[in-house]
Amino acid sequence: MRLITVEEHFTTQEIIDENNKFSEQNSKPQDPKLAEFYKSMVFVGKALTDCDEMRLAFMNSRKIDMQVLSYTSPVSDKVPANEAVRICKRANDILAQKIQVHHDRFAAFATLPMADPQAAADELERCVCEYNFCGALLAGQFQGHFYDEKIFLPIFERAAKLDVPISFHPAPINPVIQNYYYTSPEYSSFIAGQFASAGFGWHIDVGIHELRLILSGIFDKLPNLKLIAGHWGEDIPAYLDRIDYIITPESAGLKRKVSDYYKEHFYITPSGILSPMQFEYIVKLMGAEHVIWAVDYPYIRNGNFYDFLVAADFLTFEQKELIAHKNAERILHIKGEN
Ligand code: CA
Repeated sequence: MRLITVEEHFTTQEIIDENNKFSEQNSKPQDPKLAEFYKSMVFVGKALTDCDEMRLAFMNSRKIDMQVLSYTSPVSDKVPANEAVRICKRANDILAQKIQVHHDRFAAFATLPMADPQAAADELERCVCEYNFCGALLAGQFQGHFYDEKIFLPIFERAAKLDVPISFHPAPINPVIQNYYYTSPEYSSFIAGQFASAGFGWHIDVGIHELRLILSGIFDKLPNLKLIAGHWGEDIPAYLDRIDYIITPESAGLKRKVSDYYKEHFYITPSGILSPMQFEYIVKLMGAEHVIWAVDYPYIRNGNFYDFLVAADFLTFEQKELIAHKNAERILHIKGEN
């Protein structure tokens, strides 16, 4: 069974250096242990920059046929608009060259200059039409603005027109929110930092982002828009019944229930979280047609991602095939097996 995974990261030192030119001057000193942890969440050495032997060896050892690559942290929102456009084009050009070398093993999501939404929409189209990219990955917000705001609509309009998905990825959260919710005198700033980021906080942040998009009415405007949510849906699926009970179509001015939009427009991945209970729950909620596989390489490397899927005894073979590769082939327009 072919296996395609869609949240697999890549970067180059050149793009890291370009970002750092603009972000270093604004970064605040922090707990050195925490700084080290954040760094480990962004850059994990050669595993991230390699797009050849090391990555292919991992994929072969885990029976992964294809990775859809994306930049770990797309261009920082501290980069001025004109520079962001230039750096994103360069980043996408590099990634296009990399995937071409092993075009049967790699595909890619574009990174977009969110400082200039019109240019971002054009860059998405360039990457899809010229390089055959599968969509785009967006991380966090832009300077505190979530992407439900009208100014970002051109990006989603273009994605819907091109029929490619947008993948939502976590990023460091607003420091005010971090301090209010996650910091306590009773535990260390290191634990607060983990709690606020990959340990919990930035997943809640993405979940809120997903709901904001639904409540903005974007799916009534763009019925063909498809979004990918990692980490089993970033905490939203368990709350859908409650949300529907409180936020009705009438109160929100929407055509349908929040859960209807979620189940139709979102595609859920595990992002390497091998939780059998979450897996079964998400398949029951969303249907096997809305689950796509993802490992979160190279941040997650321990686990037998193929065997975990094959071992799911609540799925038919046809459902496993959808999740392993057919959904990705259909949604991301990846050529199927011969
Ligand atoms: Ca990731």
